[in-house]
Amino acid sequence: MSIGKRIVEQDQRHVWHPFTQELTAPPPVAIERGEGASLIDYDGKRYLDMISSWWVNLHGHANPIVADAIAKQAHKMEQVIFAGFTHQPASDIATRICDVLPDGLERVFFSDNGSTAVEVALKMAYQSWLNRGETQRTRFLCFEGGYHGDTFGAMAVGQSSGFFTPFDDLLFKVDSLPYPHTWDGDETVEEKEAASLKALDAYLEKHGNETAAFILEPIVQGASGMRMARYDYLREVVRRLQDAGVLVIFDEIMTGFGRLGKTFACLELGVTPDIICLSKGLTAGFLPLSLTICHEAVYKTFLDESWDKALVHSHSFTANPLGCAAALASLDLTLSDNCTQQRLRINQQHRQGLNDVMNIKGVQHTRLQGTIAAFDLVSKSDGYTSPVGPALKKTFTERGLLIRPLGNVMYLLPPYCTTEAELNHVWQQVAEAVEDVLKVHGA
Ligand SMILES: *Cc1c(COP(=O)(O)O)cnc(C)c1O
Repeated sequence: MSIGKRIVEQDQRHVWHPFTQELTAPPPVAIERGEGASLIDYDGKRYLDMISSWWVNLHGHANPIVADAIAKQAHKMEQVIFAGFTHQPASDIATRICDVLPDGLERVFFSDNGSTAVEVALKMAYQSWLNRGETQRTRFLCFEGGYHGDTFGAMAVGQSSGFFTPFDDLLFKVDSLPYPHTWDGDETVEEKEAASLKALDAYLEKHGNETAAFILEPIVQGASGMRMARYDYLREVVRRLQDAGVLVIFDEIMTGFGRLGKTFACLELGVTPDIICLSKGLTAGFLPLSLTICHEAVYKTFLDESWDKALVHSHSFTANPLGCAAALASLDLTLSDNCTQQRLRINQQHRQGLNDVMNIKGVQHTRLQGTIAAFDLVSKSDGYTSPVGPALKKTFTERGLLIRPLGNVMYLLPPYCTTEAELNHVWQQVAEAVEDVLKVHGA
């Protein structure tokens, strides 16, 4: 039996995969190695990873610069308790991230994945009001369709994404605001934005001084279908919330590290959130690590003679030195001129690709932001469980592409190292596959 076959057979006996209905899902593909934007299986078949392995990869698989930085650190020191101790990779990455972020965001709390970064942000926001004696600020507000991770606090603020129905009764109550997502040539966007702002004003009038924080995925909502909102509208939302004293939490776990254009979405918008969550691309997709960075004013509310006002939160692998070393190497690559050029070029190729597929009957709502291109397929049933998703995924796998539509939403989110020729090939394949699938499943 081939190595690949044996791996899959053992896997099927003992492994439980994430986000998968194990009874009906096809067997997993066993990947042996990666190189640039490609993943390579045990038969030597290549797959172009056009979703950056769930949005974590930035500079290609097995990137030698990041790999070397991790190896070097591993030979020096792999892990040390982070209460009462520190180390150079952590203090360096904290300093460098704060240098890039807007002034005021100066204090970095480490954890080890996106969901925990969100949990930390929620606890930080909530407790900072208690510490200030404003004990009435207990509410959280979010956008409809927002997704912030799969742990309980993160599920509560992401409840409207619709992924968590079995746990509905266990989640704390959160209010949500209509999200005016938009697309190329959307003629209803102003109306949607005005309605959302009106709902925000009504909410703030009633609950403004009872609200601890508002959490959002800035500019692009990822998991609920690469749903994009306009800059001026988002600036206005942030302004109104901050004027009402509500802390604004930017979940930049997907949008950070150049994915949307500038290094962070808050820099694109030119606004300063009170708290920001980073993970995924932070380590270029090598290791689990996350940061929750807060404004100095939030941090100061925790400083007191009393232990009661401390943030009592930690994970075993807080500020893992290997993750921090990977993050430092990756940040250098992300900030390089070469990477900036690559991202611009990807953006231009996406524009062309979207213009081409726009003419296919059954394609609608094309949209583009930075290196993310998305559009919807009009099918017999829409939403996350639409059959066009699995049908597309199957034909893409056969064509040597790793693309995983979100229901009827097709999107590309490639690593920044993807070459011009690779991306041209991808768009050609996408157009063909979409036409084929719409012939069977189109409305
Ligand atoms: C992926 C994601 C998370 C959760 O991160 P995990 O590392 O999967 O826990 C949170 N927020 C956003 C916007 C994400 O895309």
